[in-house]
Amino acid sequence: MTELPARRLLLVHAHPDDESINNGATMARYAAEGARVTLVTCTLGERGEVIPPESRHLTGTALGEYRLRELTAAMSELGVDDFRLLGGPGRFRDSGMMGLADNDDPDCFWQADVDAAAGHLVEVIREVRPQVLVTYDDHGGYGHPDHIQAHRVAMRAVELAAESGHEIPKVYWNRVPRSVAEEAFARLERELPGLPFTKAAAIDDVPGVVDDARITTEIDGTAYAAAKAAAMRAHATQITVAEPYFALSNDLAQPVLTSEYYELVRGERAAGRETDLFAGIAGIVGAARTAGTASDGSGEAS
Ligand SMILES: [Zn+2]
Repeated sequence: MTELPARRLLLVHAHPDDESINNGATMARYAAEGARVTLVTCTLGERGEVIPPESRHLTGTALGEYRLRELTAAMSELGVDDFRLLGGPGRFRDSGMMGLADNDDPDCFWQADVDAAAGHLVEVIREVRPQVLVTYDDHGGYGHPDHIQAHRVAMRAVELAAESGHEIPKVYWNRVPRSVAEEAFARLERELPGLPFTKAAAIDDVPGVVDDARITTEIDGTAYAAAKAAAMRAHATQITVAEPYFALSNDLAQPVLTSEYYELVRGERAAGRETDLFAGIAGIVGAARTAGTASDGSGEAS
């Protein structure tokens, strides 16, 4: 077995594109710094609505295969070479939006047995031995069944892995501070007339918005804004990008956030607002220094 890098980050997402929207800058940063970044995506998003007219003939399995290629391109933009589908490609199918008959499909992720699905993730955890896991909150950020299920499966896998001797020191949920969302949407409203989108989304359309007090960690992704935008653009069936804004198939504009925010929900928080997901984990600081990272010099400016 080859030796693992000192820092190992695991992200659990529902569909191809969620990782780039939520964590693109974070993934690019840690990959560039030599950390092992592993993405586990739970479904191929076979029920996603397709934006470009020339691709709208793609549905079901064909769309899933196409979206896997988009995901591959996005990971190349972020410099991430370890990305996997939970249980293998096509094992769990996209469940579609809440309340639709799609959710009754026995092969859909929403119908999956949580322990069984978590077992696939535990295998990855045992192999990669991450110190940090990132996923959604218990509402899946915004209520999509696959996002809620991804949360349940990830959190169950954390428990099961701990029982089998692999404790993950820090677990985070994706968040957006309300003040950041409000400021970005105010700017969006002013700039909307010059943008290729008809309307702005509402703040409540943004997954994971919470009061600022709940934010434990801010990753400044300014240096990786271009990589994040490129990764989002790679998911062309799902996302239209006009930097620094984007829209999903509903054509409602949203800001592309280059600083990404997290709430630590398991593990010990370092002092103040963390600027590194690995902050405080034993043995990590020295490892980061020997890897030659420059970003640790920013000190306590937050
Ligand atoms: Zn999704």
